[in-house]
Amino acid sequence: MRLTDDRYAGEKSQFELAIRMIGHEARTRAIRECTGLSDDRIRKVYATYFRNSGDAVVKRRRGKSPRQVQFYVRSPANQLQATTLVALFCTGLLIRIDEDGNVHACWPRPDVEFGHRLCRAYETYLVLHKNPALSFEWAWNLLQCITYNDELYLANCSSCDARYVQDAYALDDRTCPTCVIGTTSGTLTTHDLNVQKR
Ligand SMILES: [Zn+2]
Repeated sequence: MRLTDDRYAGEKSQFELAIRMIGHEARTRAIRECTGLSDDRIRKVYATYFRNSGDAVVKRRRGKSPRQVQFYVRSPANQLQATTLVALFCTGLLIRIDEDGNVHACWPRPDVEFGHRLCRAYETYLVLHKNPALSFEWAWNLLQCITYNDELYLANCSSCDARYVQDAYALDDRTCPTCVIGTTSGTLTTHDLNVQKR
């Protein structure tokens, strides 16, 4: 009985995660890696919960996920949003940031708990940014890229001391996106900036 209960709870969590990830338009491969469900079962979940729901917005993505790291730093807005996500990955214990700003992955390989934590981070990001530029797939890749400490790294702002996501091959003037937005927009008040830094 106990075993059956545990197995049921485990399967329930797998399917809940599949539904959650399909809702974020995650790629089938990512859903498979996290849930351990076969492609066939993922197709069935999609068919059951989404295809006949009349919700035309939810799409299934196939093929390779986007990889270009420049996207994360293409504009101060993207850079700020990528930085928010990294902070949320850290809060969700998906990564650890040491004193030198190096990022360490806390999850050896994707599983159901990893998937739920990533969804939680992404959903919080959607609440924090009115115009989200990063899709779930971009968030998934950001999590991987930032832990390589190679093409992307956490730079340090010389004015406010905040850390921010930076492209290792870009010229870094040591100004975080919040400080850039603050000096160029004129539409943000000090209050807005304080809110963004939190
Ligand atoms: Zn700054």
